[in-house]
Amino acid sequence: MPSLTPFQRVMSLLRGEQPDRVPVIPQITYTTAQITGVGLVEALHSPEKTAEALLAGQRELGYDAIYVGWESSFNLLAEAMGCTMRFPKDSVPQVADHIVKSPNDIDKVAIPDPHSSGRLPLHMEMVKLVKDAVNCDVPLFAYTPGPFTLAGQLAGVNALMVATIRNPEFVSTLLSLTTKASMRYALANVEAGVNVIVTADPTASGSLISPKTFATFAAPHLTQIAKAVTRVGSIASLHICGKTAMILDQMASTEVQILELDHLVDMQEAQEHIGQQVILMGNLNPTELLLNGTPAEVEAAAKWCIETVGQDGRFILSSGCEVPPLTPLNNIRAMVAAAEKYGQFS
Ligand SMILES: [Zn+2]
Repeated sequence: MPSLTPFQRVMSLLRGEQPDRVPVIPQITYTTAQITGVGLVEALHSPEKTAEALLAGQRELGYDAIYVGWESSFNLLAEAMGCTMRFPKDSVPQVADHIVKSPNDIDKVAIPDPHSSGRLPLHMEMVKLVKDAVNCDVPLFAYTPGPFTLAGQLAGVNALMVATIRNPEFVSTLLSLTTKASMRYALANVEAGVNVIVTADPTASGSLISPKTFATFAAPHLTQIAKAVTRVGSIASLHICGKTAMILDQMASTEVQILELDHLVDMQEAQEHIGQQVILMGNLNPTELLLNGTPAEVEAAAKWCIETVGQDGRFILSSGCEVPPLTPLNNIRAMVAAAEKYGQFS
């Protein structure tokens, strides 16, 4: 039997069938800059250069999907909604000021148009270039901001945390705005050909908020986005960094098909708890293993994941979080090779 294309492999898994092997999809975006030699910052304003690097990454390293992104979606959206950005010389932009300081400020913030606000059109152009190049052979994943995380960008994370206790109504109004913004951006990505929308909500991590706060302020909005994405025929995934063991049930109940779990989560326990509800994706340690480890160490960890949670065909081998910029490419090659070597379904 001829081997499947990455698109066929991933879609077969998502349909609940067993593909030829475990798919391998490292969460790699601007780390591909080292392949084409483009500067990480230089590429920020060039859809052609970001597309070229992302395509080169998949072609040279052989993984099963492309994350069409370069910097955090919550930064891009925050900027498009009016936040001023700081552009450091050697890294991606960061939010420099928070524009929502009181409930009155919320009315002044508009939901950004992905085709005209801030630098969002550059992102949309990049998605189009990548989609045209891969046609239907390689699936595309794109991030959209978790409403709680985007609210933190607009109001400041500390102020948001305090407001969840002192002014929950303000937080709810703000979340209604950020949910609409995230949803509009997600749907524009689907329209441009993205197959899997990954809602990234790092500020809603169990490392930062309690399960109760998650239930009140994060889960309902994440569910809204997953429903909207699914309604238009796309796949919904959820990415929350750090410790999430205590909110796994809630995460799995947001109506997503895929959960991206960080290295701090025990995959075996996660599989026992929620493996029947969602496809698990993860969770090699991005820093200790992928950035600073050896190919042999990466292979051993990937083998453990595949053999422990990959046997039932409901698992995607991945990094626990974004692959850091200077990660040796041979470590990514070792990860892909491990999926090919240990992940075959007979
Ligand atoms: Zn993460």
